[in-house]
Amino acid sequence: MSVVFVAASQLPTPFALFTMHGFLDEATGKEHIALTLGDFSDGAPVLGRLHSECLTGDALFSLRCDCGAQLQAALQAIADEGRGVLLYLRQEGRGIGLLNKIRAYELQDGGADTVEANERLGFGADQRDYAICQPMLEHLGISAIKLMTNNPRKVKALEHYGLRVASRVPLQAGQNPYNKKYLATKAGKLGHMLGSLHQGEVELGPKA
Ligand SMILES: [Zn+2]
Repeated sequence: MSVVFVAASQLPTPFALFTMHGFLDEATGKEHIALTLGDFSDGAPVLGRLHSECLTGDALFSLRCDCGAQLQAALQAIADEGRGVLLYLRQEGRGIGLLNKIRAYELQDGGADTVEANERLGFGADQRDYAICQPMLEHLGISAIKLMTNNPRKVKALEHYGLRVASRVPLQAGQNPYNKKYLATKAGKLGHMLGSLHQGEVELGPKA
């Protein structure tokens, strides 16, 4: 894996004073960030979030998705716990890039759902790659995580790369009238665990 640590600094936010760690993926040239809070040296599972970049949701307040609200909720949860990590992964638009995401939105404006739109553009429904997380978490000294996600695919991906996912912590935030269909597609076609049945933290047993 070609991910190298470059530099770390303080990052004051409305939620907490985080430490920001910058990484370069030399294979793709992409720059990724980890925000951390607290000390991980005791080895106990760390509250964590893998957040893939969504410029429209994270920075421009878009209501087409729930990314901005999820980012805020994750940072708030880490601040409340006083300990945690957020990996901010530069894989915009579930890995297809910003301009292709706008092309997909254009198709969605014409009636396609988020999966159909990606497929019509020749992309997979979800092209994100979580291999980059392993060297980032290893650098930070994190081997076990309490993962804030509604997406079982992320749990499987981290376990595949040798990390222990001690529990899955649901992260439901940002539902609104504009993203109702998007969230229904995530639940129906992409296996996201949304809704009142999936609100409690789920302990995940040790793998044989
Ligand atoms: Zn988004």
